[in-house]
Amino acid sequence: MAKARGLVAVNFEECKGCKLCVDACPVDVLHLAKSFNTHGYSPAEYDGEGCTGCGICYYACPEPGAITVFKRWEEAQEAYICHNNNVQSRLSLQDSVRGLALCDSCGQEVILSDFLNLRFAE
Ligand code: SF4
Ligand code: SF4
Repeated sequence: MAKARGLVAVNFEECKGCKLCVDACPVDVLHLAKSFNTHGYSPAEYDGEGCTGCGICYYACPEPGAITVFKRWEEAQEAYICHNNNVQSRLSLQDSVRGLALCDSCGQEVILSDFLNLRFAE
């Protein structure tokens, strides 16, 4: 089995529950949640482990911003730039299913699917 070095984060409110990503994932680590978002869709949800970072779900998804894939999560979490203290920090993963982490510098929760508002060192 391919090494789990990636991390996938679904923006539950952007997801329309079409299931294309679930069917496309070659290692079967996505499913539809049993709950609904505010639009009435059951969003895709990560099993919480096993993502290889292949990116296939990202390309399968028709909704811009619904899926973020961190291809090399361990490198990304060390390169995080804290937007409060404007320093390079580290992300501590809190909830891989919901895509939540804590910034080691400021202690605030970071929503990993909010990728456009996250910064990382080169
Ligand atoms: S990046 Fe690849 S392994 Fe990870 S959830 Fe998406 S399709 Fe599955
Ligand atoms: S492909 Fe995109 S819109 Fe469809 S279920 Fe997956 S994340 Fe949601």
